[in-house]
Amino acid sequence: MVIIEVACRYCNKTHPVRKHGTGRGGFPRYYCNDCKRTFQLSYSYQAHQPGMREKIVEMASSGTSIRRTSSTLKVGINTVMRYLKEEKEAR
Ligand SMILES: [Zn+2]
Repeated sequence: MVIIEVACRYCNKTHPVRKHGTGRGGFPRYYCNDCKRTFQLSYSYQAHQPGMREKIVEMASSGTSIRRTSSTLKVGINTVMRYLKEEKEAR
């Protein structure tokens, strides 16, 4: 069982995360002991900065368009949409 320094995308904890095989597309999958969930990291690297998700959600909830959020925070439109989608699903 290999422990690696990867922050869980649900709770942002680093230590309980371990490698969990390889998912579709060949990206490594990880499993968080805290959340009991598996996740892939590859697609969350791009905007993986502390607070980025919160900023995106905050801008969206104050009525900022996705395009404008994307250019203000300097992240891709797809990243913004993905975060908002995840946020919606998490509720
Ligand atoms: Zn977790």
